[in-house]
Amino acid sequence: MPIAADDKDAVLTEKRARFGAMLHQAERVVAFTGAGLSTEAGIPDFRSPGGRWNRMQPIPFDVFLADADARHESWRRRFEMDVELAQARPTRGHRAIASWVKAGKCPAVITQNIDNLHQLSGIAEEAVVEVHGNTTYATCLSCARRYELEALRGPFLASGQAPQCEDCGGIVKTATISFGQPMPEAAMRRATELTKSCDLFVVIGSSLVVYPAADLPRLAYQAGARVVIVNREETPGDRYASVVLRGEIGDLLEEFIL
Ligand code: NAD
Repeated sequence: MPIAADDKDAVLTEKRARFGAMLHQAERVVAFTGAGLSTEAGIPDFRSPGGRWNRMQPIPFDVFLADADARHESWRRRFEMDVELAQARPTRGHRAIASWVKAGKCPAVITQNIDNLHQLSGIAEEAVVEVHGNTTYATCLSCARRYELEALRGPFLASGQAPQCEDCGGIVKTATISFGQPMPEAAMRRATELTKSCDLFVVIGSSLVVYPAADLPRLAYQAGARVVIVNREETPGDRYASVVLRGEIGDLLEEFIL
């Protein structure tokens, strides 16, 4: 028999209360965030209807390295996102997480997001562990020189050439991790340490299908933490979660802004 709407509301209310109690009791919360956290800010995720992948295929790292046309396309896509990224502001979910950090409950956020919105929500740079990098700046893949995008945009639009390093001639790429690109070692080490040492691990807006990051909730669970999943659809992590809050992230987390 289908569950009546009133019953569903009662179940969700009870789950929210359980999450509230867990958050209150927890001493070391880790928030693990994915693209779903930023959809309320107007940045599409990858897999939802209308998401980025319904419109374009990702460019794997080896193709980016080998093919000048792929590099050009990658930079064209990046600059196409300029307006979307410039207009994006931290969401209610970002604000909730920032309040946990400010309250001293959450030593750091582990994020798969590349949009810099955690930093914009007021969380210090050192407390944001970016396992897939950051798209708001670029680096040379050979000598690691950092480039701000403002300096690259004009020459790219004028010449149609993907940027090359002024110092060493190396390939310049947004500071993000593409499919097939090695994971950032220090960030992954720190993410693993945080995951193993927390008592509450809250997954927010991730489909939990992109590995190795998607393995972190399981690691937290095995290390004895409670896992909570906040997402509008089912995820592979639901089976080891103590609480699954199903719905819109902003609506669900607003009441947990401390
Ligand atoms: P994903 O697109 O695979 O999954 C997003 C999940 O969030 C989905 O399960 C979706 O149903 C859910 N969701 C979307 N909006 C929601 C909302 N408002 N409320 C509740 N749930 C919502 O994203 P992922 O798991 O982060 O993995 C894909 C990769 O996408 C990551 O590596 C990340 O680097 C990259 N990415 C990042 C951004 C960003 O920085 N904002 C945007 C697109 C993709």
